[in-house]
Amino acid sequence: MLPSSPLPPLRLAAPPVSGRLDSAITLSTVARLVASGTAVSKADLVPAAGLARTTVSTAVDDLLARGLLRLDGTRPTVGRGRPADRLALSPRGGHVLLADVGARGAHLAVVDLSQRVLAHTHAPLDVTDGPDAVLATIETRLAALHHRAKQERTAGDVLARAVVIGLPGPVDGHLGVPVRPPIMPGWHAYPVSARLREAFGCPVVLENDVNLRALGEARAVPADQAPLLFVKVGTGIGGGLVTREGVLHHGADGAAGDIGHVRVRGAPDEACVCGNVGCIEAVASAGAISRRLGCTISELQTLVARGDAGAQNAVREAAGLIGELVATLVHFYNPARVTIGGSLTAASDALLAGVRSVVYQRALPLATRNLVLAASTLGEYAGLAGAIVLGIERVLSAEEIGTVLGADRSPGAPLGARALGTCP
Ligand SMILES: [Zn+2]
Repeated sequence: MLPSSPLPPLRLAAPPVSGRLDSAITLSTVARLVASGTAVSKADLVPAAGLARTTVSTAVDDLLARGLLRLDGTRPTVGRGRPADRLALSPRGGHVLLADVGARGAHLAVVDLSQRVLAHTHAPLDVTDGPDAVLATIETRLAALHHRAKQERTAGDVLARAVVIGLPGPVDGHLGVPVRPPIMPGWHAYPVSARLREAFGCPVVLENDVNLRALGEARAVPADQAPLLFVKVGTGIGGGLVTREGVLHHGADGAAGDIGHVRVRGAPDEACVCGNVGCIEAVASAGAISRRLGCTISELQTLVARGDAGAQNAVREAAGLIGELVATLVHFYNPARVTIGGSLTAASDALLAGVRSVVYQRALPLATRNLVLAASTLGEYAGLAGAIVLGIERVLSAEEIGTVLGADRSPGAPLGARALGTCP
């Protein structure tokens, strides 16, 4: 199980409210801000949403009446006036099921719409076993977790409203399929989203695992730390980019950030799983270093943590190559923060220190004067954090919130079946 509160509150993005302003957008905005934990009273919501007081008040009353929001005590107001009602998402509003799948295991979790982690487990699996075996395991384990969460934490039936799955390879999020993932034989074009939608009867979000980490990290640190570039150095090397607006940059086909297969100056001609030679992933990943040293990645972590000279040297060399790549990316994108994550940074600061020295030496001052280059603040839970953000934003989106509000709830619950209308 996770410690009781392993993750800080994660900021959720509200849909843009300019232009067309129908009630679905207003309800979505208010619900997401409350789920964010940033605005928990009507008075907080007015400036946070950028909406008129009466509009916010009507939306809050509507969400309370329909049971998606509930009153959660009061909070003192500054200066005069009675304490303000504190708003929270109802624990019965729905659950989001999460699977952050790595090459050798998956973090699986169930959260409610207020970001509470209700159940969590780590399931060992091997993505090279193919999609049928791996997804069958994930379905069984997630269903069991969901069942447990309902029994132990919500005392009654609460529907799964979305599933978010991250995979360690390139994915087409629109089609819901992996696209020629180098380390996942048999997964190309497999209908991952369609299968999980069938299994759980709710929308499915498919994302690349490093993108999930990037998003989780970006929403856990202050908003001025974006654009944020996340570089994961593990079995392979991957990148994820969060824009200044706090959303993932996918590029035209979803391949943005797939930096493992670029070549940097001075890299040896090692063959890569992608068919090319000299890719950064083939020469500087934890996988590449451990192959060279004849050990496993976890043995490499132990050697590095213990200060073994050979392992330290190998990591320093890798850091030099990764630093060259990061310096180029810093010039191109001018991120506010570069986060280095993955198994090697968990073991020691050597990689981060090596990358940092190259970046500050190579990149020009304008791109680095405010740059923060740091290890992941969420560690191995960064991917789950990103999945929480995508899942709750999806459930509380203008497109989906009507489903939650209109659904037939348990007997006696005040949620009506009234369809969402458009504001007069
Ligand atoms: Zn390659």
